[in-house]
Amino acid sequence: MFTKIEPFCEESVREAAQILKNGGIAAIPTETVYGLAANALDENAVKSIFTAKGRPQDNPLIVHISNFEMIKPLVVDVPKLAQKLAERFWAGPLTMIFDKTDVIPGVTSGGLSTVAVRMPANDAARAVIEKCGFPLAAPSANLSGKPSPTSARHVFEDMNGKIPLIIDGGECTVGVESTVICFNGDKIHILRPGGVTAEMLSEFAEVEIDKAVETAPKQDERVISPGMKYKHYSPKADVWIVKLRAEKFVKFCESRKDENAWFLSRGDYGKGFINFGETAEIQARRLFRLLREADENNIETVYVEIPDKSGVGLAVYNRLIRAAGFKVVDE
Ligand code: AMP
Ligand code: MG
Repeated sequence: MFTKIEPFCEESVREAAQILKNGGIAAIPTETVYGLAANALDENAVKSIFTAKGRPQDNPLIVHISNFEMIKPLVVDVPKLAQKLAERFWAGPLTMIFDKTDVIPGVTSGGLSTVAVRMPANDAARAVIEKCGFPLAAPSANLSGKPSPTSARHVFEDMNGKIPLIIDGGECTVGVESTVICFNGDKIHILRPGGVTAEMLSEFAEVEIDKAVETAPKQDERVISPGMKYKHYSPKADVWIVKLRAEKFVKFCESRKDENAWFLSRGDYGKGFINFGETAEIQARRLFRLLREADENNIETVYVEIPDKSGVGLAVYNRLIRAAGFKVVDE
């Protein structure tokens, strides 16, 4: 199959919608990462996503809508708190879990009785959903396990020959996937951190963070969010989080400078270092691109100065610790 990359415009939106209406799949930009989209209500179309990505069948997909009305047939009920959060954070990088109706096929929800729903803020994503008139399942458009794509070129690297169309909407502005939450009584339970932070959510209710966000689940342990149990976001290069800051990090890296390694620093540390970003927002935007570039440069090891875990930093840490397979260099 020939894979076209087309800029976001009326024509490419029309073409993507046509493919999706015919039960096909296409890649679209979102503000978080690029998504591989299919009609969320069409079992066969959704199956094609799993095949193209090589994604485990029990890992449920997020259902994307373009206006609030679209959620109504999909879920049993929208709790008051969820409604408030939707008013504040939609359209945006927040995914909420609801009890699903029969409209959502089991393949989309990974066999669960719940469904994850989000309204993306990206214009191209919204335009395609709007044109389709049905919600889109759209996991990240990478091969399962690889770093998520934050540009159309990244999607092409992984999906060339597997999908007919990629809409190019430029670099993703957030750069990591959405925050995924469920509700535990009156509390907000964060299953996956993202652009909508714990701090932002805590203005609405007490927030708890799932232990799988920072730690490796034990073998066979039941996790609320199935995606959490897989090694993820990994380049071929061996990634390590280095739990040392500033001068100590520099010293550590100097002792390893003969290795075929990249040293990602939280600032401009001069020759031999790659500035990964001073702020968590910048780090989030650069993370997946840098991991892919390490592979393009045949780098064997990537050492990363430990990010701050506050704000979007928790999302950066969560993706990195998985890319690292939970390997941390401690003092
Ligand atoms: P992705 O589509 O790759 O961004 O991953 C979606 C994430 O949302 C994964 O971590 C899933 O496990 C999680 N998720 C999707 N649906 C549900 C659900 N019904 N319950 C819990 N987690 C979910
Ligand atoms: Mg993904």
